[in-house]
Amino acid sequence: MGIAMPGDNERWRCTGCGNLTRFDVTRTVRSQDYVHQELSGAGVVEERTVLAETIERVKCRWCGATDSVEIVPRPDAEQSVPDSSAESSTGSA
Ligand SMILES: [Zn+2]
Repeated sequence: MGIAMPGDNERWRCTGCGNLTRFDVTRTVRSQDYVHQELSGAGVVEERTVLAETIERVKCRWCGATDSVEIVPRPDAEQSVPDSSAESSTGSA
């Protein structure tokens, strides 16, 4: 059972404990790296382009659950939706 990276208006949430911020993410990344090596042989990756990325597991740092993480909307995303019927308690949903 896989899970995707959250989109621009989404975030992860642990349904077990409510954690929204801390996760251990196991992922497979296929990337093209620009490796800059000094003449001494020491090298660093100066630029990385991710060609493909697969999330294998998202583990909650708080409770340790590995199958309780879901994607939920970010608070900002909810607020950005025009809401002109806030006072309607019985309106259509
Ligand atoms: Zn949790």
